[in-house]
Amino acid sequence: MQQGLIPERQPEEFTDMRSDPNHRTGDDDLFAGGHGGDAIDVTDDLVADLRRAAGETSLRVAPDVRHVHKGRGAVSNREGRFESQSRVEIDDGWGSLEDLPAKPARQEIVDATRRVITRNQSPDVPFDRSINAYRGCEHGCIYCFARPTHAWLGMSPGLDFETRITYKPDAAICLVNELAKPAYSNNPTRPVAPINMGTNTDPYQPIESTRRITRQLLEVLSDCNHPVGITTKGTLIERDLDILASMASRNLVHVSISLPTLDHELSRTLEPRAAAPRRRLKTLRLIAQAGIPVSLLMAPVIPLLTDGEIEKLLKLAAQAGAESAGYVLLRLPLEVRDLFVEWLQVHHPDKASHVMQLVRDTRGGRDYQSAWGVRQRGTGDYADLIAQRFAAGRRRYGLNTRQSRLDCSQFVPPVAAGATTRQLGLFDGATG
Ligand code: SF4
Repeated sequence: MQQGLIPERQPEEFTDMRSDPNHRTGDDDLFAGGHGGDAIDVTDDLVADLRRAAGETSLRVAPDVRHVHKGRGAVSNREGRFESQSRVEIDDGWGSLEDLPAKPARQEIVDATRRVITRNQSPDVPFDRSINAYRGCEHGCIYCFARPTHAWLGMSPGLDFETRITYKPDAAICLVNELAKPAYSNNPTRPVAPINMGTNTDPYQPIESTRRITRQLLEVLSDCNHPVGITTKGTLIERDLDILASMASRNLVHVSISLPTLDHELSRTLEPRAAAPRRRLKTLRLIAQAGIPVSLLMAPVIPLLTDGEIEKLLKLAAQAGAESAGYVLLRLPLEVRDLFVEWLQVHHPDKASHVMQLVRDTRGGRDYQSAWGVRQRGTGDYADLIAQRFAAGRRRYGLNTRQSRLDCSQFVPPVAAGATTRQLGLFDGATG
């Protein structure tokens, strides 16, 4: 058996990945021969040759390597846009294609990046800075537009995105050091503003239950009175209600619960490791009952599959205690488009072409529009109708209040020092 090639790209913020023993590029569980099918690295031409040969001889090649993995969203591990080579599984004569792993396990990979606050200038989002302690997300939502970031890391935006999760063990220490810099609080062009968590990967995905990095970050932010916004699909946020309630009493936190559907069966394949829809509504209720301002985020609205639920979702969210609501129309940038179409063909073959036609209706005839200003809500009659229904529902259920501004004036810079982490007790109770 031949093993995989190590990706050549090494982005600035991902310095130690290959030197980390947890980064098992060479024994990829998904495709290594130890699980049955042999994997070889091949060019696109060779893939075509292999498939041609398979048609002409008894050689068996996995058809596009599509499998429904229980508890996973993507049905393939297709290469990212930067890869010059493809991988294909061939039967080595032992009937081994049938032995491919049914359930790829999570790998945890250290990310030794020293910076944790990421800045953005997008006019589409109401924040200019964010923290993502994890990359990749085990919730595995097939529509997740963070998937293409895994291609940048040399991993697949498909199954790799939801199984090979990077984490920043020193994120809290790095945050202390960044907030302590005079330039952070004395920058006239970028004054102190809320930091958002959950903008790219979910801060309460399963790995957080043992790594506890999100909780450590919240402890830092709470200790120095720094405001934070959180978006999640995870019930694990309930663990941190103590910190969040304390921050809410100082007007320092806002939470958005992301919930695109109430349909349990649809959710099971659409976002396989996120909490069940009704369970997420319960989380929303508990957050509201703890006195923490909370919103519903219907993200994404998927034409034909979920757009019929707008009014019901708004009603139930309002009853659970949400004070506002927002939505994002389905976005299919880069590799997400093919992964989503693949998922549609496997799970909703009867609706696939209709869904994609409606998607194109909202995107000027294409599968995706990336321009600022339209990528969140789309364009055209269908997109306008969704916007009108959402606005009417918000009014009807009292969810049209603007989120109140979090208070940035209380921020007190922490002291940057190695001892600071011990003073703050950052690692008390950490189990990772
Ligand atoms: S929970 Fe959010 S970050 Fe995670 S896969 Fe789903 S959409 Fe992506």
